[in-house]
Amino acid sequence: MTAPTYEPVIGLEVHAELLTRSKIFCRCSAAFGGAPNTNVCPLCLGMPGVLPVLNRRVVEFAIRAGLATHCTIANRSRFARKNYFYPDLPKGYQISMYELPICVGGWLDVLTDGTSRRIGLTRIHMEEDTGKNIHDAHGDASLVDYNRSGVPLLEIVSEPDMRSVAEAGAYLRTLRSILQYLEICDGNMEEGSFRCDANVSIRPAGTTELGTKVEIKNMNSFRNVERAIAYEIDRQAEVLESGGKLVQETRLWDVDRSETRSMRSKEYAHDYRYFPEPDLLPLVVEPAWVDDIRGTMPELPGPRRERFEREYGLSPYDADVLTQRKDVADYFEAGIAAGATPKEMANWVMTELLRIVREEKLDRALVISDWPLTAAQLAGLAKLVQTGAINRNTAKGLIARLRGSGRDPAELVAAEGLTQVSDRGALDAAVADVIAKHPAQVAEVKAGKERVLGFLVGQVMKATGGKANPQMVQELLKTALR
Ligand SMILES: [Zn+2]
Repeated sequence: MTAPTYEPVIGLEVHAELLTRSKIFCRCSAAFGGAPNTNVCPLCLGMPGVLPVLNRRVVEFAIRAGLATHCTIANRSRFARKNYFYPDLPKGYQISMYELPICVGGWLDVLTDGTSRRIGLTRIHMEEDTGKNIHDAHGDASLVDYNRSGVPLLEIVSEPDMRSVAEAGAYLRTLRSILQYLEICDGNMEEGSFRCDANVSIRPAGTTELGTKVEIKNMNSFRNVERAIAYEIDRQAEVLESGGKLVQETRLWDVDRSETRSMRSKEYAHDYRYFPEPDLLPLVVEPAWVDDIRGTMPELPGPRRERFEREYGLSPYDADVLTQRKDVADYFEAGIAAGATPKEMANWVMTELLRIVREEKLDRALVISDWPLTAAQLAGLAKLVQTGAINRNTAKGLIARLRGSGRDPAELVAAEGLTQVSDRGALDAAVADVIAKHPAQVAEVKAGKERVLGFLVGQVMKATGGKANPQMVQELLKTALR
């Protein structure tokens, strides 16, 4: 008998911290960081007798997220108390939503290997974040910072519709991209403003019954989510293969040991004794307000990616890279508006600019405020290459010099005499000189060793201080050695 192959079944729960200025039920700042316990008041410290007041902006953000993911926006929803004890939750309960969430039943399309799949959303609800426990290095004391207590969260729950690690990764990236486009969450996983728990089970391929699911927590990067899910799929298959039984439980991803380990048996909803929050009225959302919000929705990443392919003739891959973040897509289009061709601008943004952005982590916030070059400067460089005024290498070398200078690339090139040498006479002389100086290599090229031609091109480039038009040099050499 051959071992059965297993099909993974994956559902994801995302917690997204919202970019409101104040917290969900009080006026304290919702900003990340700050000295511990400075953004707090009696309400978010859970003092008895205080009354929460719902932040209207949080509701607006939840509706935006729901509209962007094709959810039904509930006309009437309700907050609920989720009861449990933990030092970072001084009230002993978290205000969340339970049986009547604000958004239900949406979906989003995700791309893996060029194929689109539709992943269902179960619900989106609002809740308050908890404080943060800080365990000291010696392990003999735990501190609590309540700055995060009461920061607004959206919990976005998917259906168990994903069937591979790649699909789970694509779903998360797509969802984060949408929230960033809506400007409601900065999507920073390292700072915890975009967090993910995964429900993973497996079943024999071809069957439809769901297996025993395990929840994985504590994954703070896309890479860790993917690694943890892959590990868990393998672990579950091994347990079943060896005749064991899986238990429903919560497991923690241990980054250092690259494994999941059991944290506690899975809690069930009834363990939390949910009940309607008595301090808040049921939430009624007028359809007219939803229509107003619908009217202010931006073009979202999926439609924008398709437009980039259609309008600018970009490949699906390029269009995808350029539209994952709204600020990058805006930057690209600003360069087109400044006169660069789409192909050239795409090339410069993807190969040079985004590399610097990644290396220097300039994309930590929602919007990149210190681009290495302005879109107009990069478009200027692209245009100089398009027209043949400078070659690609000269242009690359100019990025560091233009950075922070505010200078116009054309002006810099003119001022420093960097214009590409395309003058036939000057190049002919340099080519003849190089041929005379390297008879051995010339003989090799003539004997059919094409790659030695590159060496001769390099010598001509060197002789012209890197300013020669490389295509022209190559043509001239080929003609001369034919
Ligand atoms: Zn407060």
